[in-house]
Amino acid sequence: MVESKEQNEHLRDIANLCYRCKKCSVICPVAPSGRFNPRKFIQEINLETPGRLKKGRKFCDTEEDIWVCLTCGQCRVCPQGLEIPEMVREIRKEVREQVPNDPRFTATETHMNIFPIAFELMRKNPKPAQKQTILNQYASIQKWPALEMAQTGSIAYYPGCFNLYEHALVNLHVQQTLTAYAIIRFLNLTGITPVVANDYCCGHDALWAGDEETFLSFGKRNIEIWKAAGVKTILVSCAEGFRTLSVDYPKYFPEFSFQVEFAADYFDRNQIFKKIRGFEVKCRSIVTVHDPCRSGRLVDGGHYESVRNLLQNLIFLEIVEMPHNRDEARCCGVASFRNCTDYARDMTRKRIKEAMKVGAKYIVTTCPKCVSHFQCVTLNEAAALKAKFGKDPPKVMDLFSFIYSAYNANDLL
Ligand code: SF4
Ligand code: SF4
Ligand code: SF4
Repeated sequence: MVESKEQNEHLRDIANLCYRCKKCSVICPVAPSGRFNPRKFIQEINLETPGRLKKGRKFCDTEEDIWVCLTCGQCRVCPQGLEIPEMVREIRKEVREQVPNDPRFTATETHMNIFPIAFELMRKNPKPAQKQTILNQYASIQKWPALEMAQTGSIAYYPGCFNLYEHALVNLHVQQTLTAYAIIRFLNLTGITPVVANDYCCGHDALWAGDEETFLSFGKRNIEIWKAAGVKTILVSCAEGFRTLSVDYPKYFPEFSFQVEFAADYFDRNQIFKKIRGFEVKCRSIVTVHDPCRSGRLVDGGHYESVRNLLQNLIFLEIVEMPHNRDEARCCGVASFRNCTDYARDMTRKRIKEAMKVGAKYIVTTCPKCVSHFQCVTLNEAAALKAKFGKDPPKVMDLFSFIYSAYNANDLL
């Protein structure tokens, strides 16, 4: 664990690179709220902290509210290459250690704090979900073919927390179980039987909330499980899981030796749909892609094109782009189920309006949380959006749920 003093010095060295051009503040979606401004935050580290440290104070005294930052990475336009989300995360960790009951942190709770409570229970009482059983129960309820899944093998599919989201957000139709089913079913149809292990949450939310202990405990257990199953390659469809396994696990766990691939990239690279006999799926609809930060700006080489390439397998489907796409995609408004304020929901609304203005009937994305935040607005404010635009708001779906729904119905309007 990095000692606070060393951490402070390390952060101050980075902050010293800032020449106050304000590019980060201009693009930051939360800066206009007056609660967090990235340039001021950097300045606070750079200029004020030495004085604070002399007085024995630490970064947990930051005047900028670090819990409001979305860690969305739009500030990666910084010409000096400052990685502000990473710096925010480091300071959050210190705050959690120094001020466990920081009121600014507890004020960010959403959904009656159900997700952190669930993660805490998982950490203390590690009874992993029987994922293969859950997925085939789902198949049976839908009257769909049972899935073929292996206990051991070289290629695994990591479905993440699909069962938690499905139950906790049932009224928002996140359909994360459908996503997991779709990916495994499509793989089965090309003769691939992936390992689906009883692994745990990747620890993304804990890590970004400064709770490294929980993150490390999940990561350690997951690595042991994948090693025992003989896994070499892990496919991840959830943007947050992909970022966590491909960037954070290698950084925190020297023993992490797996190849991690974004599921959309794998399907595109291996032309999976072209290998499925009779895959001639019509979809006479209009779709736009919301690029999540975790599979875009916050990983190397933004994984944008594979998502669009896969959609192009659907006959008649029109793909329209929002003005802010790929690296410039706007944030969905809420991060890690924290800080769902009026201001945040307004950001979500703006993104939905952007999709409506380009005529999209569907917003397709690869992050279950983006799906939930958008659905929360499109479902709860459908009448207001219809009154403003004269049409229903778009439906919001995960990429693979969308493609499987079209495949299953051989159309989707
Ligand atoms: S964009 Fe970078 S250099 Fe410019 S003010 Fe922000 S942190 Fe400083
Ligand atoms: S990560 Fe997003 S919210 Fe945080 S400072 Fe950067 S642009 Fe602003
Ligand atoms: S916008 Fe997101 S965080 Fe807020 S209530 Fe809806 S689903 Fe929960």
